[in-house]
Amino acid sequence: MSEDLKGLTGEIVTPEDPRYEQARQEWNRAIQKFPLVIVYCLEIKDVQNAIRWARKNKAEIRIRSGGHHYEGYSVGNGVLVIDISRLTRIDMHEGQRLVKIQSGVKNKELYEALGSRGYPFPGGTCPTVGVCGYVLGGGWGMSTRLFGLGSDQLLEIEIVNYKGKLLTCSEEKNKDLFWALRGAGGGNFGVVVSMTFRLPPKVDKVSLVQVYAPESSKAQQESFLTVWQEWLKKLDIRMTINVSIYNSEEEGLGIFGRGLFYGDTETASKLLQPFADIGLQITVRHLTFLEAVTAVMNDYPPFEKFQSTGRFVHRDFDNKEIRKIAGTIQKPADGSVFTAVTVYALGGRVSEISRKESAFYFRDARYIMGIQTVWTDDAFEKVNQDWLYPRFQYIRSVTKGSFVNFPYDRLGNYEKAYYGGNAEKLRKINREYDPHNVFTFPQGIKG
Ligand SMILES: Cc1cc2nc3c(=O)[nH]c(=O)nc-3n(C[C@H](O)[C@H](O)[C@H](O)COP(=O)(O)OP(=O)(O)OC[C@H]3O[C@@H](n4cnc5c(N)ncnc54)[C@H](O)[C@@H]3O)c2cc1C
Repeated sequence: MSEDLKGLTGEIVTPEDPRYEQARQEWNRAIQKFPLVIVYCLEIKDVQNAIRWARKNKAEIRIRSGGHHYEGYSVGNGVLVIDISRLTRIDMHEGQRLVKIQSGVKNKELYEALGSRGYPFPGGTCPTVGVCGYVLGGGWGMSTRLFGLGSDQLLEIEIVNYKGKLLTCSEEKNKDLFWALRGAGGGNFGVVVSMTFRLPPKVDKVSLVQVYAPESSKAQQESFLTVWQEWLKKLDIRMTINVSIYNSEEEGLGIFGRGLFYGDTETASKLLQPFADIGLQITVRHLTFLEAVTAVMNDYPPFEKFQSTGRFVHRDFDNKEIRKIAGTIQKPADGSVFTAVTVYALGGRVSEISRKESAFYFRDARYIMGIQTVWTDDAFEKVNQDWLYPRFQYIRSVTKGSFVNFPYDRLGNYEKAYYGGNAEKLRKINREYDPHNVFTFPQGIKG
């Protein structure tokens, strides 16, 4: 090891290493950053040494677990990346009804460990998203209306702070930090090395539901948005779905959505009848939880080039607004292969918990509305990014608050947008737990 890297432990990858090219990649391949060094941590000591080394050498730190940050804030140019993806232990304690995971565990691994024993979990939809990265931003999944957000299941977090010290956070210990980590924890306060969750009750089978309208039209997409906003108000909390109205190079306009219902197929079909009434095909399958989430996860490609972001919706849209929202995707950017507006159901358990309970502020939102564009050829990157901006600005003008798990580089006033009325308290906690801003990134909390 070169003299400069002395003090770093774990698996170390520098630009001269043949593994570097792969190691610096994020899931979003539109992000191309060139870190100074990437440290794959194999034990907690490696995390502690990396933090001490970065401080001594005045290197900026980025923390990476699954590498799915939309804007690539888990890497950067000239930074030290503390990569914890090799910390993948899962310890089940069924007697105590809890599971402890190390912070490199991915959605798929947790689902397999829990699902094979009959437990569901309100994790995410993409197999390779890091559970910790997901949970630190709140975490929306297809069980969210019934069980709450991923972060609502947390009992305890272990984190390495700016001094390299391991802290335990819970309702009893470091309570304010525990509060902050549940919704605003990504990259801000230290390196989370483990999370302990309460286990939901076992389930035998769930209904995997699907709504689909290939060869759709703008009028049908508008009808969908109109029906959706009414439908969601009275929806059984056992159902959580997300649905995209899309415009794809291959298929043209369409509508596609999926979700879970913790109940029988007949009731699930009845609940979806308003969508059948406007011409969507409804499919419902009775599966184990693991089979159902695996079917959802299998749809993800290994990576993409995209820009995407998401806002919280608190009110009904009128016809004119619905026309404008559906209008955003009718003319995709040059080189776009897929563009969509996606709605993610909230409510249920999420809104029963007070916004003061954790850093996740927008609990009263009815749903999240995301917008995205995907391209394959780098030549179209800028035109796609510029395409998204004015459309996002419109959606921003009719919504309140941005989902930190669907972040956007060009957001502006981001602390307020992500954390609403909790932003000030978060700054205070940040000043206390990271007084020198050792953990920083382009949209970090500035204590
Ligand atoms: C294809 C795809 C599907 C997605 N689906 C969903 C979904 O269904 N629901 C949802 O809520 N979100 C979803 N997301 C968003 C995703 O949950 C967030 O991007 C999440 O932050 C990713 O975590 P990660 O560990 O994979 O990514 P990373 O890029 O490794 O990390 C994301 C952020 O968290 C920080 N971070 C990661 N690990 C730690 C740690 N141990 N300690 C401190 N900070 C840490 C990073 O520094 C970075 O700021 C999706 C993203 C993609 C790309």
